[in-house]
Amino acid sequence: MPKPDSNRKIITNAVLDRRSNELTDLLKASRYLSNILDHQELYAAFSGIVQEKIPVRSLSLLVYYPTTETFKMVLNHGLGKINFKFQRDDQLLWQNIADDKPFAVYDDSGKSLFPGVFKKYNLTRLQSKLWVPLVMRGEVIGLLTVGEKINHQPFDDFELYFLKQIAAHGAVCINTCRLYEERKKEKEDLDKTLQNLSLLYSIGKAMNYISDLKKLLQFILSQAIEITSAEKGSIMLYDPETDRLIIRVLAGLADTEYQEKVNTSEIKCRSFKPGEGIAGRVYMTARPMVVNNIRDDDFFIESETSFVKSIACIPMVVYSDVIGVINVTNKRDEKDFSDEDLQMLKAVADQAAVAVNKAQLWDMAVTDSLTGLYVRRYFMAKLQEEIRRAERYNKVLSIVMADLDRFKNINDTFGHDAGDRVLQTIGKFLQNNIREVDILARYGGEEFVLMILEADQEAAYSLSERIREKFSKIKFDNLPKITISLGIATYPFDGNELEDLIKKADAAMYAAKQAGRNKVVKYTGDIKLIRKESAR
Ligand code: GH3
Ligand code: MG
Ligand code: MG
Repeated sequence: MPKPDSNRKIITNAVLDRRSNELTDLLKASRYLSNILDHQELYAAFSGIVQEKIPVRSLSLLVYYPTTETFKMVLNHGLGKINFKFQRDDQLLWQNIADDKPFAVYDDSGKSLFPGVFKKYNLTRLQSKLWVPLVMRGEVIGLLTVGEKINHQPFDDFELYFLKQIAAHGAVCINTCRLYEERKKEKEDLDKTLQNLSLLYSIGKAMNYISDLKKLLQFILSQAIEITSAEKGSIMLYDPETDRLIIRVLAGLADTEYQEKVNTSEIKCRSFKPGEGIAGRVYMTARPMVVNNIRDDDFFIESETSFVKSIACIPMVVYSDVIGVINVTNKRDEKDFSDEDLQMLKAVADQAAVAVNKAQLWDMAVTDSLTGLYVRRYFMAKLQEEIRRAERYNKVLSIVMADLDRFKNINDTFGHDAGDRVLQTIGKFLQNNIREVDILARYGGEEFVLMILEADQEAAYSLSERIREKFSKIKFDNLPKITISLGIATYPFDGNELEDLIKKADAAMYAAKQAGRNKVVKYTGDIKLIRKESAR
C-alpha cells in the first residue's frame, strides 16, 4: 500500500484515482525499462521517465563502481557539460544512500546537510535538492540527484513514492544491463579465442601438406602477417655453414621486384650474425621480442630496403635449437603489436618450426647440394609412381637422359670448379625449360634425367631438340662451347617397367654419343642395351 495515505481515515475518490494512475504509470515505466539492454539507452530512458513525471530544473544519474568506491556521472539534464565523480568517503552521506530512501541534501534554511563532502567534491554543482539512491538487494547501484521542481513546489508524498519505486526498478535494470554487457564481453573474448584456435588449427594443418621449403616459408609468413595485421615481414633461417641468419622469404615489400628476386634466391639480401640486430638477438636468446617504437631500440639496424616503425620477432625452436626467426613489421593503422599478436605469433612459430625442420630434412634428403635438383633415388620413386598412374589412366610419359659431351675435357683443362659451375648452370637451364609438373633430377655426375608427363616420343623429341639447341648456344665465361646428348624412351611404347625404360633412355643417349654427340635419339629396337647400371 502506498504510504502517502496510510494515516488517513477517509480515502477520497480523487486519492484513489491518483493512486491508480501512479501505479499504472509505474507499471508502464518499469515495463519499458526492462526491455532495454544497452546502458546508455537505459540511462536516457530512466531520466526521461523521471523528467516527464516530475519536471525538475536539473537531474543527474550517477553509477556506483564498488571496486573504486566511486560514483561516476553517466548522464545529466540541465547541468551543462559536466563530468562528475566522487568517492564514498563520507560516512553520514553513505548511510543515507544505503538506507535506500529519497533524502534532502539541504535543510530548510538552505544549508548543506553534508558540508564536508559537498565542499570537498564541490557537490553544489549538481544543483540538487533531493538524492534518490538506486539500491538492489542492499547493494548500492547508483544515485539519482534531482534539482528544484520547475514549479518551485516541494516534492509531495506521491512524488517521493514514485521516485523511490522507479529508483528501485532502475537499479535492477542497470544491474541487469551491466551483467549482460559483462557476459557479452566474455562471450566476445571467448569467440575470439575460438576463432584464433581454429585459425591456428587450419594453419597447422595446411603446413603439413607443404613439403617444399620455399612454399612452406611463404605460407607461414603470409599467415603471420595476416594474423597480426602487419604491413610486411620476413623469415630468416640459420645457416650453419656460414654461421649467419639468412633472409629466405620476404613479403609485403613495396619493391616487389627486389622481393621476388630474394624469394627466388636470385639475389641474397642482408644476413645477420647471431647476436646482431633484433633478429640476431632473438636467435641468441630464443625469446620473442616486440619493439613498437623502433627508435627506442639500440639493437635495431636499419637497412636501405626496409622502413621499419615497429617489429615483432619470434624464434622458431625445434628440440631447443633455434632454426630461424619470423619477423613481422609495421602493424597497420599505426597501431602497436599487442600481447595477443605475440601469443598468436608464438603459436604459429611453434608449429612452423616443426614443419620447417621437416621440410629442411626432406630437402637435404631429396636434393643434390651442387645443383639443387632432385637426387636419383627420389626421381626413381617419383617415376615409379607416375608409371603406375599412367597405367591406371591410360596415359603416356617419356624419360629423357641427358649427358654432357666431353665433359672430362672441361674438368681437365679448366679445373673441377669450372666444371662444377657448368653443372650448376645446366641444372638451372634445364629447370627453366621444363614445365612445373615435369620432374628433373641429377642422375649421376654429369648426367641429368627428365620425366615428361603425357608426352609421347614425338613430343619428347621436339622438347629435347629445343633444349639441345638452346643449350649449345649458351656462352660460358672463359670456356669453350659445351653441348649435350639426349636419349628418349617412352612409356608404354618402349616398355612398362621402370628399370627397362631407364636402360632404354640411357642406351638411346649412348647412341646419340656414337652418332657424333650434340644429338637427340629416340629409342628403337635397333639400339643395343649395352650399358649396364654398374658401369656408371
Ligand atoms: P662423353 O660423355 O661425351 O662421352 O664424354 P665425357 O668426358 O663427358 O665422359 P664421361 O661422361 O665418361 O665423363 C664424366 C666426367 O664428368 C668425369 C668427371 O670428371 C666429370 N664429373 C662427374 N661428376 C662431376 C662433378 O660433380 N663435378 C665436376 N666438375 N665434374 C664431374
Ligand atoms: Mg659426358
Ligand atoms: Mg657421363
